[in-house]
Amino acid sequence: MNSDFLPYARQLIDDDDVDAVLNVLRSAWLTTGPSVSQFEQRVCEYLGVPHAVAVSSGTAALHAAMSAIGLGSGDEVIVPSMTFVASVNCVMYQGARPVFSDVDPDTLLISPQSVRNLLTPRTKAVIAVDYAGQTADYDALLEITKSRGLTLIADACHSLGASYKGRKAGTLANLTVFSFHPVKHITTAEGGMVVTQDPGLAIRMRAFRNHGITTEVLDRERLGTWYYEMWDLGFNYRLSDLQCALGISQLKKLDVWIAHRRDIARTYDDALHRIPGFEPLKRASSSEHAFHLYVVRVRAGQYGMTRDDLYRQLRTQNIGTNVHYIPAHLHPYYRNRFSTAPGLCPNAEMAYSEILSLPMSHAMSLSDAKRVAGAIRELAGC
Ligand SMILES: *Cc1c(COP(=O)(O)O)cnc(C)c1O
Repeated sequence: MNSDFLPYARQLIDDDDVDAVLNVLRSAWLTTGPSVSQFEQRVCEYLGVPHAVAVSSGTAALHAAMSAIGLGSGDEVIVPSMTFVASVNCVMYQGARPVFSDVDPDTLLISPQSVRNLLTPRTKAVIAVDYAGQTADYDALLEITKSRGLTLIADACHSLGASYKGRKAGTLANLTVFSFHPVKHITTAEGGMVVTQDPGLAIRMRAFRNHGITTEVLDRERLGTWYYEMWDLGFNYRLSDLQCALGISQLKKLDVWIAHRRDIARTYDDALHRIPGFEPLKRASSSEHAFHLYVVRVRAGQYGMTRDDLYRQLRTQNIGTNVHYIPAHLHPYYRNRFSTAPGLCPNAEMAYSEILSLPMSHAMSLSDAKRVAGAIRELAGC
């Protein structure tokens, strides 16, 4: 047995990354200096968008987006239940109400039909989550939001580098949010970014990340002035220059890493097909998958073992897997607050009992993937 534990996800830091951070440490600006706008600029170039606002986490990015659209109490935001709780919490930070949408049973992406059914006069926005790294059906979602004057926000924390009908994630919604947590495609330890085509929204988010103050220290120093004004209530959601330098260095490797993630997915696909009761999630032909996660469904009846048993068995072989996600509406906080209960989002709930995320990262090798696949085949008796 292999004695090295293989985590379901992990970052990769090379000497260039380390040097980039050390250079900032030796410079005059540790935070809110030149690396921030450089990182934003590089992300804009990579995605082909005009505005990017770096913030301290993906969660802060979601919050900034919600604030920028003027979300407040009495408003509703439709959000898929199959997501991380941060996608829901950002709505509540603004005093608005999250409305849980079910997902497509094959892809676990937000279901446009379910969104249509949940619209009310109070609906202000829809958050789409690009689950596992596959983009949601943005044409269908924009058809719903545009005609009604709603905002479409993409939680693209899984889909940096993915595309939809030839267009990159980041260009598909009114606002798009990315995370640079270590399990994501590139990392700044903690970090996030919002990108948009809308200059007005970008200005509001820049102020929001800095207490609602309209100028930043670097700008004031360049202009030779000490004066500033606060116009809105904001937060300290800034991303430091240390982190942005790491982000700039990581971004250079993104395309190579995504290609490697796709190779790992192909390795799994080839090694794991035709195991009864063991099914990788379906992929839409309209989307070029970025494979943040490689999610399979384990149907206990046919596979001969439950998802939880497989999780435990793989752990004994030093293989880390994970479950993404407990449907958000089932968490006690929301149940207590909104009386959500099982039965609200049947597709998400059904999937939840069967889904398992296999190890997937640019830091693992194809032979790691073969080891995982071998263990799964053996446990299935194939
Ligand atoms: C990671 C993630 C977030 C939150 O990002 P952080 O940087 O950890 O705050 C939000 N939504 C989804 C879908 C995520 O995967």
